Amino acid sequence: MFTIISYNIIMKINKLTFKTLILLLISSNSILAQVSRNNFCSHNKEVFDRVKTDAVFKNLIDSIDAVQEQHEINYKNSANSRAGTIYYIPVVYHVIHEGGVENISDAQIKSDLNDLNEIYRKLNTNVGSVNSAFSGISADTEIEFRLAQKKNDGTCFSGITRTFSSTTNTGGNSAANAVKALHGDFPGNKYMNIFIAKDIGGAAGYTYRPGAPYYSDMGNGIHVLHQYVGTLGTSTQTGFNTTLAHEAGHWLNLPHLWGNSNSPGLSSNCSGDDGVADTPNTIGWQSCNPNGVTCGTLDNVENIMEYSYCSKMFTNGQKTKMRAAVTSFIGGRSNLITAANQNATGIFADIICEANFEADKSTACENTPVQFYDNSFHNPTSWSWAFDSGNPSTSSLQNPIVTYSSAGKHNVSLVVTNSNGSKTISKNLYMTILPSWGAALPFTEGFETNEAQFKAKWETVIDDTANISLSSINSSGIKSALIRNFVMTENQIGEIISPSLNLTANSSVDITFDYAYAKKVGASLETIQFLISNNCGNSWVISRGLNPTAASMNSEFSPSSSQWQSMSIGINNSFFSPNFRFKIKLKNGNGNNFYIDNININNVVGIDELDVLSTINIYPNPMTEKAIVKLDIKKEAKVSIYLMNTIGEIVHQIATEETITQGNSKFEINKNNLSKGLYFVTIEVNGTKKINKLVIN
Ligand SMILES: [Zn+2]
Repeated sequence: MFTIISYNIIMKINKLTFKTLILLLISSNSILAQVSRNNFCSHNKEVFDRVKTDAVFKNLIDSIDAVQEQHEINYKNSANSRAGTIYYIPVVYHVIHEGGVENISDAQIKSDLNDLNEIYRKLNTNVGSVNSAFSGISADTEIEFRLAQKKNDGTCFSGITRTFSSTTNTGGNSAANAVKALHGDFPGNKYMNIFIAKDIGGAAGYTYRPGAPYYSDMGNGIHVLHQYVGTLGTSTQTGFNTTLAHEAGHWLNLPHLWGNSNSPGLSSNCSGDDGVADTPNTIGWQSCNPNGVTCGTLDNVENIMEYSYCSKMFTNGQKTKMRAAVTSFIGGRSNLITAANQNATGIFADIICEANFEADKSTACENTPVQFYDNSFHNPTSWSWAFDSGNPSTSSLQNPIVTYSSAGKHNVSLVVTNSNGSKTISKNLYMTILPSWGAALPFTEGFETNEAQFKAKWETVIDDTANISLSSINSSGIKSALIRNFVMTENQIGEIISPSLNLTANSSVDITFDYAYAKKVGASLETIQFLISNNCGNSWVISRGLNPTAASMNSEFSPSSSQWQSMSIGINNSFFSPNFRFKIKLKNGNGNNFYIDNININNVVGIDELDVLSTINIYPNPMTEKAIVKLDIKKEAKVSIYLMNTIGEIVHQIATEETITQGNSKFEINKNNLSKGLYFVTIEVNGTKKINKLVIN
């Protein structure tokens, strides 16, 4: 479905010049019509202007055309002997983009290449409906286009390059140069380069005939808007997209059916000619009338080199002209189809260029499935995986699923093979399996370790990990964990993520912790959340937000003992999974420091009881001779308090089933004959246990 936008300036160009340089203006639907296109790109103008003013350049083009025409005559005379030889042309798509929709998908590009090849090999399903007067000369051009698999320097790639560049707004040689700067040269005599951009100076697409010496380099390719590529994604084309087939026709020396005018529909076009014997003279079409007659005989309206809305076919004569062009040295075309170039560009064989893989996650819990994906190219037919400590430990599937039962960092390797060879990749310590903390509650964490032990047990995530560390400021014991938000930058995210806990054996789970946090004066954009996961951290649910525990301050926050607050959170039983995790997530809003300490996870008796106890304070901690346990009880309750050593023995009973009333109550812990070290203060309120660390010095 084509329409043309006329460019008056083109009509002023003499015929010879225009034979050399073809500007294509193809569109379908109404998209192009909506775009104002009042000039063609400066790239073209440069050539037009030069031909008009540079007699030497014009003579050069004349002589090149003469050589090309003689080659075409010779080729026609030998064409029968060449029948059955398929010419393969290496193709590279260069996506030039600024991160927007113009950065089209591989799938959209592959749909484009598919349409191109179907048309050139007469495999397009609609070719069967061509006007019967032309079905007999509808040609399989025996030309195919294949994605290159090797760059000019011999390294492997997918046949598609992507270049982030503002030249997507201009296209032309500047875009080609931007690609070259990033990906290296793709010489025009080795690859048919297709440059996809957002704006190419007004046209939907354009290219150059092979005869333009000015563009025998990488820029001598096809330039096209992303909306005219394929039939998926951003494409405005439906059914078959003939844009590239039309452009490639020009690139292989075919003029429009009405000859060397870029204005279809002019009666003067009847005296023009496309240099192809079996295409009837026509004034050219911008609509589809398969029975149209404009120059005395039936027009081949459905020809690819028309601007009709129903292009479907090339003729035998066009086939010969294109095949002559691709066997000519003019424009470097004949080099494209040599065996040496096919090897160099890797189009023929499914070369095993590179083995590669990835997994759906690089960190997982024990016994959770990890999906591996083969990313090797091109087209391996067998796979040999080795997963150190994995189950299975080897696999011959392309995309296997593996679990690990032992924590640590594990190696993964892959050998890919096809009939042309094999490649290997090994990724050492690729998969991190987190240690499970097992099923036994209580889980306690007072951060009384060294930095390395802390980081090994707790995952810490931040743009600058130096800002998460242990701190000697604490609510109990001698250390806490700190997110040093004070020095972080706006919107930076800091996370402290727990190890994996197996909660399946529990009937009711309660997490308590102490935290201290202040904002800066006037800063109110901070968010601090407590999140939980029942799938090892693959997904998270916000459990609650955490409010400041101290007044805002502009100096770096370092809490006093009264600026700590206890938090108690009941966990819904849908999270009692084998891989429960929780985390603190802080998003910086120019605030102040966050401290967490004294984390306890208990199997509790009843959710109802969780609300009875609002806060616990134990001070001083560490203690020397004496410490106070201060409880704030919301309603009358029975309380037991006792001290346990690190192996769980009760070493000091402080209170036994004492009934205490609403409000604050204090209990005293005396050192007596206890030795120095770490202890756990267990407080049971109506059977609900809270465990806090206490250090005796
Ligand atoms: Zn055209």
